[in-house]
Amino acid sequence: MPTKVICNRPKLLVWDIDGTLLANKGVGKRSMSEAFERCFGIANAFETVDLAGAVDTDVFEACFEANGIDRTRMPTFLGVFYETLEARWDNREATLLPGVVDALAWSSECGYTNVIGTGNMRQSAQMKLRKFGLERWFVGGGYADDCAHRPTVVKTAIEKGALAAKRTFQTEDIWIIGDTPWDIAAGVQNRCKTVAVATGGFSAEQLSNYSPDVLLETLEQLPAMLAKM
Ligand SMILES: [Mg+2]
Repeated sequence: MPTKVICNRPKLLVWDIDGTLLANKGVGKRSMSEAFERCFGIANAFETVDLAGAVDTDVFEACFEANGIDRTRMPTFLGVFYETLEARWDNREATLLPGVVDALAWSSECGYTNVIGTGNMRQSAQMKLRKFGLERWFVGGGYADDCAHRPTVVKTAIEKGALAAKRTFQTEDIWIIGDTPWDIAAGVQNRCKTVAVATGGFSAEQLSNYSPDVLLETLEQLPAMLAKM
């Protein structure tokens, strides 16, 4: 944390979780498969699913359909999934990504509003944040429970942030921070600014093809970059 905190106009920051704030090292996917097998006796159901940038409701519904499972059994599956994720989570395996705590502390010192915009279900998102003590920085967010469409999840996150801050933000002061092309696309669809960070499954070179407003190797560079905006 620099001694002199440099800020600019009030901002609303919308943060993705996996690959952006933390690396879960596949525990999310393994928990999905384990829960599916416990509920329906089908192993490795999520083995070939790419979760990068995906919205969980979409992933779960596709898997139910592919395996001929009735949708009415979703609540049962979700309950077992949350239980499995909690039981399998290990902070020695999952890690907080570089610069995350300093970037959140900086943002909070600037009086900025922080919300989550994730493809995770609310309950798994909140569990992941709690595991690293990050929940205190956020005033709410948009989750997979809100919609199976990422741009709408981000739109919900923006609305929650404005409500919590009791103000509206100009679109040039709303920043969507994520590690995949889908985070960038969700920001563009909401006419917001985008920060792409190469700490997930995409390299900086790959992310540059999607023209984010700011491209970072890690969030360690975020305060210095956003302070200028
Ligand atoms: Mg992500």
